[in-house]
Amino acid sequence: MATQTVLVINSGSSSIKYQLVDPDSGEPIAKGLIEAIGEDSGHATHTYGEERRELDRVIADHTEGMAIMEEFFSTLGPDLASSHIVAVGHRIVQGGKYFSGPALIDEEVHDKIVDLCPLGPLHNPAHLKGIDAARKIFPDLPHVAVFDTAFFQSLPEEAARYALNREVADTYEIRRYGAHGTSHQFVSGEVTRMLGRDDLKQIVLHLGNGASASAVVNGHAVDTSMGLTPLEGLVMGSRTGDIDPAAVFHLLRQTDMGVDELDDLFNKRSGMKGLTGDNDMRRVHERIAAGDRDAADGFAIYIHRLVSYVGAYTAVMGGLDALTFTAGIGENDAKVREALCERLAFLGVRIDAEANAQRSGEARVISTPDSAVTVLVVPTNEELAIARQAMSLV
Ligand code: ADP
Repeated sequence: MATQTVLVINSGSSSIKYQLVDPDSGEPIAKGLIEAIGEDSGHATHTYGEERRELDRVIADHTEGMAIMEEFFSTLGPDLASSHIVAVGHRIVQGGKYFSGPALIDEEVHDKIVDLCPLGPLHNPAHLKGIDAARKIFPDLPHVAVFDTAFFQSLPEEAARYALNREVADTYEIRRYGAHGTSHQFVSGEVTRMLGRDDLKQIVLHLGNGASASAVVNGHAVDTSMGLTPLEGLVMGSRTGDIDPAAVFHLLRQTDMGVDELDDLFNKRSGMKGLTGDNDMRRVHERIAAGDRDAADGFAIYIHRLVSYVGAYTAVMGGLDALTFTAGIGENDAKVREALCERLAFLGVRIDAEANAQRSGEARVISTPDSAVTVLVVPTNEELAIARQAMSLV
């Protein structure tokens, strides 16, 4: 049994993902997912070693969801009282300009996360439900907030500030905060470790359902594709990524859609889903193979956006030493990696077709020895990163 563990909680509007992590070994000891909270029928799963349990029942709210988690631990294990939990780490999407690292959740930090709800309307209120429910169950443990935006607080002003009217931008705190920072920090750190150099110009591509790119110089983020919210940047599973904001003005004037509907359209009904009908890249490939034109177009748009960002960030950094793929698509989709790297041949990028095609859960280099840029696949592990950051405060 680990001598110290951290319970990591990622609370969404209708879900709670949790993992009991050993921060030393990096191993998840147990994990679970409570889904469809507040809906007509809820669902929960818990996995501990070889044991897995599922539960279907109505789950009224996050407090009840957290009670189900506690029940899973006490019936299926491991017993939380003897698991040496030293902290509960909470993933928080929006930390605004206030947090450049993890923070112990006292009343002041709690209030700040509340104050930040208007900047993270789709995420922070849900995180607060998770924090409040978890504090009821674990009143004596330190609770630590780990912010998705923290890694990007180092962004230089010229990368973080939009060319929006200064007074309006400052009054409403509109700037590029970024997101997925925990993942970008973890993955770029792994690359630094693997290559044994900390003087690197890196691009990390976190390509999951949400997708983001970051430019990292000597361990510090200098640019990132997500902005005020996770909507900006790359083409995602169901988000537009970059789009002229005048499209919003146009739709407001030309249709009877209101702000909430537009929010839903841009965040949930666009991206690969809106272009091809599918937000899962595996299905997109199947459709392309079956001759679907929309799927082929969608894939081309997805790759085009990636090429643009890699080009831009290489210019911003004045060079590129390492290009790293991570998250669901980045780690598993050889076709995406190949299609992008082919377009980067002008930078001297060369990947080894066999290494790229190999399926593996290990961090690895997929470029050839003569490639001008080292190309890597590094599995992200946000739970471990959150656990380690939480540990650093207790
Ligand atoms: P998130 O955490 O943002 O929900 P993930 O990082 O788990 O997303 O990535 C999920 C996405 O990864 C899926 O929607 C799918 O498109 C993609 N994906 C997962 N496995 C594969 C695979 N073997 N090949 C291609 N894409 C995959």
